[in-house]
Parts: sequence; C-alpha cells; structure tokens
Amino acid sequence: MRFSQLVVALPSLIGSANANQNWEGWAGSGNQTKWSNPSYSPDVVDIDVAIIGGGSGGIHAAIQLKDAGASVMVIEKKDQIGGHTETYTNPTTGVVTNVGVIVFENTDLVKRYFARLRVPIITNALETPSSRYDFALGIPIPPPDDQQEAIQAAVQAYTENVLSKYGWIDQGFLVPDPVPEELYLPFAQFAENYNFSALLPLIAELNWYTGNITTLPALYGIKGLGPGLLGSAFGEFILSGTGNSRSLYDAALKELGSSVLLSTTILNIDRHSNSTGVTLLVAQRGSAPKTIRARKLLVAIPPILKNIWSFDLSRQEQVIFSKFFSLGYYAGVAHVPGFDGSFTNVGAFTPFNQPIIPGNNGFIATGSPGEFLIGGGFDRGDVTDEEGKELVRENLATLAAVGAVPADAANSVTFPYTSDHTPYHVRVTAEDIKAGFYAKLLALQGSRNTYWTGAAFTGHNSALVWNWNEGTIVPGLKKDLGLE
Ligand SMILES: Cc1cc2nc3c(=O)[nH]c(=O)nc-3n(C[C@H](O)[C@H](O)[C@H](O)COP(=O)(O)OP(=O)(O)OC[C@H]3O[C@@H](n4cnc5c(N)ncnc54)[C@H](O)[C@@H]3O)c2cc1C
Repeated sequence: MRFSQLVVALPSLIGSANANQNWEGWAGSGNQTKWSNPSYSPDVVDIDVAIIGGGSGGIHAAIQLKDAGASVMVIEKKDQIGGHTETYTNPTTGVVTNVGVIVFENTDLVKRYFARLRVPIITNALETPSSRYDFALGIPIPPPDDQQEAIQAAVQAYTENVLSKYGWIDQGFLVPDPVPEELYLPFAQFAENYNFSALLPLIAELNWYTGNITTLPALYGIKGLGPGLLGSAFGEFILSGTGNSRSLYDAALKELGSSVLLSTTILNIDRHSNSTGVTLLVAQRGSAPKTIRARKLLVAIPPILKNIWSFDLSRQEQVIFSKFFSLGYYAGVAHVPGFDGSFTNVGAFTPFNQPIIPGNNGFIATGSPGEFLIGGGFDRGDVTDEEGKELVRENLATLAAVGAVPADAANSVTFPYTSDHTPYHVRVTAEDIKAGFYAKLLALQGSRNTYWTGAAFTGHNSALVWNWNEGTIVPGLKKDLGLE
C-alpha cells in the first residue's frame, strides 16, 4: 500500500553474508550444504518460536507471542527491522521522510499495537497534491470533475453488496471453496457488475502499484479496499506521532532486545528430522554460526522460491510456492535543484486514468528544497536500481519538455536515497485462484511445525498483516505451544 496523496514530511549494508560464503567448516551451497567440521560446535539456542523475517508481520507476531509467554528469536537479514518501513533524513534540513510505509488504517488493532509499543499516534485525512500530469506523455490533466455523488453511490453499493458478502477481506485470503467465479473475473468487470466502478481510481491509488486495475483478478482488487481502508480513506488514517514510521520498529527492537538477530543469514533449516520441532543454522555477520532449536517456525518473508531456496521444502510446498509471481516497486528520494512542486501521475487516455506502467505515481515534495518522494511501479518483479532511476529521469524529461520542471531536471537529478521494494504484491494467476490455490496455501499452516505470515497471505497493507497474525497465526501457535 502506498499513499502518495498523503504528504507527510514532519519533522547497511543489507546484511547478506551470502549463504554461499565459506564459513569456517561450512562447505557447499543450497540444499546440498553440509556442516563439514565435526570438531566445531556452534552455539545452541532453545526457544519456542523462530521467526524468519523482522518486517511488519514478523515483528508484530514476535511481540504478540512474547506477550503470550513464548520465547522467540527473530532472524532478519538486513541491519534493521521494519521491512518496507524505511526513512530518509535530509542531512541539511533534518527533515525525516517516510520512504516506505507512511500511514496505517484507523482501526482498534492498529491503535492497540501503537499503544503496546508506547508510540504516539496522530490522525490525518488524505491530501491531494495540486498538479496532475501524464508523466509518460507530458500532458497536464485538469482537476477531476466533482465525482462526489458517483463515489458516494459506489461506496454504498460496495459496502452493501461486496463487503457484506466477503467478510474476510481484512483478514487472510480466506477464499471459499469452491471459489466463486466472480473472484477471478477481471476487476473492472466485477466492479461493473456491482456498480462501484467509480471507486477503481481510488483503489488503484491507495494500493499503488497494484497492477492493472482493469484486468487484475477481482480477488486482489477487493483485497485493496476492505472495511478498514475504506473507513480510513473517507475518514482519517493513523500516522506515527513522531513523524517517523520507524518509531514503531525502534520501540519493538528495544522491547525484543537480544531476541532479534540482525544481519543474519540462514544457512540451513531442518524441519523433518524431528517431529517436535525445527532446527536452524544461522550466521550473524561477524559471529560464529548459531544453531537455533525451536518448537515452531514462523516464516515472515515473501515466500517466492528465490527467498526460500535454503528451506527443506516438501514437494507440496514447492508446487504451491512456485506459483507465485510478483510486481516491482522502486522507491526513494530524488533531488532536482529548483523543483519544489508535488505532482501526481494521471494517465490521459488509459482506463480509469491509471498511470502508464512502468511509471512513478507522483513526485511528492518532502519539505526539503528540491527534494521529492518517488515511487515507481513495474509489472515485473526483477527491477534493477538503474531501471528505477532511469524511469525517474524519463518522467522528468517528459515533464521538462512541457515546462513543468526545470529544463535540465533529467540530467541534474540526484538520488540521496533509494530502495528496491520488490517483490511487491506476491500473487498467482486467475487460473490458479480458480483451481483453489488459496485453500491449498491455507492448508500449509502448522504443517511441519511451520506457520507462514506476511503480505502474500493477506494483502499488502500493515493492518491486514497484523489482523492475519492476530486472527489466525498467533492463535494457532499459542494452541500448539499450549499457551491458551
Ligand atoms: C513502498 C511501500 C510503501 C508502503 N506503504 C504502506 C503504508 O503506508 N501503510 C501500510 O499499511 N502498508 C504500506 N505498505 C505495505 C506494507 O509495507 C506491507 O504490507 C508489509 O510490510 C508486509 O509485511 P511483511 O511482513 O509481509 O513484509 P516485510 O515488512 O517486507 O518484512 C519482510 C522482512 O523479511 C526480511 N527478509 C527477507 N528475506 C529474508 C531472509 N531470507 N532471511 C531473513 N530475513 C529476510 C526483510 O528484510 C524484511 O525485513 C507499503 C509497502 C511498500 C513497498
């Protein structure tokens, strides 16, 4: 989820000791790796739940499990927790810009989580940047006609006929079996059937970049507008009261202390030798490998095969996870001397005025001179750093040609902070949805002492991930651990 319209500019190495790296006594790579030095015995830690991934889902689960009396160990590959929650601080002005996560749904669960970590909150409504352009064609787009009545009617139709029918939208992908045909229809067709087409531009904007809003399967479309998001979009969102979304993770790190291993690589996972638990061999940068023996494993990283190659995947897990593909998202802060505006990218001739892809959703002023937020959406999940920057240069060149930005903007632009948020929106095809993919995915929970959380299991929105944890994952783990 990305809220480009809400301008909030209030006041590293990626810890990848590569798993192929030659640790003393460690030989080989991938699933063939073997501990080859019997005289060396790594530290052994015994805990209740090992959590792979210290992002939104992993950290929320860790706090809930700790509060329930479980011992946990979070294994995070980067040198900070928080996943997509990243910030950039301008060294001259001191202005902090939330580059990833900015706003949160205004729900009781979100309020409770912030209160639990003693992070203050504020609330705010969406703001609309003043200037609209088609960034690919250089066409200025006039302010939209007043759609108030059409939108109100669409909200009513959507609430009465869709939200009431699919009560699990704000939970996991709890897709009924058999799968209703309408859930794999192209979303625009589904919207037309239910008379809420006027909401499509908003859904596309709130969930930027969610894929082609016209053609994506309806399941993913409705996931982008559950009751929590709808209420916040037409009311107010929650933001960190410090102006820095990372305050949540600073507080969580304090709370979890040595239960978080940063800059840590997983060398091996054994989930089958011992039916009562799992064993992980991990290596934290600069330290000797450690063995973690856990009664349960919670995987909180995007479950695409590239990420879980070192897991001892069963045949069934391999088949299921190989279905996933993702979109790409490149975010950051760019600087152009003499440019201080905020622009939204609006497709001049596209259905529902979606920006042309690849494209940035906007250039949003951060509050520091010449500096703006960027957010590039791609239809594929293998975006390079250079491609992300080149897209900004292309968009600036087009805007410069119509005098919207300084003439040399495409050459003078620099990038004080960038980050690749790929894989974004980890999904399957309409055919796979139809074939019951999500029932099979759900059936994996708890099997081989392993639970799975994160956006792929519920949708790309922090509140949905936390709902999923609180409604399904944490209760399952507590039951298994005898903590109820
Ligand atoms: C640019 C952007 C802006 C967003 N804005 C908002 C917003 O304003 N509001 C909102 O509610 N949601 C927002 N979202 C969505 C929200 O960030 C996600 O829904 C949420 O982060 C998903 O949580 P997750 O736990 O699945 O993944 P993540 O939060 O990404 O966590 C995964 C973690 O696992 C780690 N990891 C990955 N592989 C490994 C490995 N092999 N070993 C160990 N660790 C590993 C990663 O480093 C990361 O820390 C935004 C997303 C993006 C990309």
